[in-house]
Amino acid sequence: MNINATLINLYHVCPRECWLHTNGINMEHTSDTVYDGKLLHETSYSQRAEKYTEIELSATLNDEITLTGKIDFYDANEKIIHETKRSDKVEEAHEWQIKYYIWLLELNGIENAQAILEYPTLRHKSLVVLNDADKQHLLSIISAIAQLKESDICPPKINAKICKSCSYYELCYIDE
Ligand code: SF4
Repeated sequence: MNINATLINLYHVCPRECWLHTNGINMEHTSDTVYDGKLLHETSYSQRAEKYTEIELSATLNDEITLTGKIDFYDANEKIIHETKRSDKVEEAHEWQIKYYIWLLELNGIENAQAILEYPTLRHKSLVVLNDADKQHLLSIISAIAQLKESDICPPKINAKICKSCSYYELCYIDE
């Protein structure tokens, strides 16, 4: 079974969104937020590609689960991941996605990496590090995602503020 950074992120936003995504129900093409994010990535930060490296990582957990992740901007000299996002509405999910990347680096023999999470449009940035408790949390989340992937039952709606900007909004609430 494969688990990637997108699933780690989505699970922290909404387990239902994670389930819909992992079952191939994708509506991101209808999401302005996703388009906006791609535009931010391709325009504002194109110069970063010259300075930092893009790396793809993988690791196997208990001979059962393959963990994968692609870091777009990695400073190999300083061991710092640079991650940019437009909105901080799901900042916690962003942080766990990045902690997952740091952990993947560690599983590949790169110890003590850190990350800078930036919201350029908000002029806000924060340092993200990984500790032992974070690793335990990631292990439990990976186990929960593995169960979710094997389940035929779609988790309940979360009825949260974030639903209004979710690409699955119509699918979730069309009958209400
Ligand atoms: S609309 Fe809300 S409940 Fe539905 S998938 Fe998105 S975040 Fe989850």
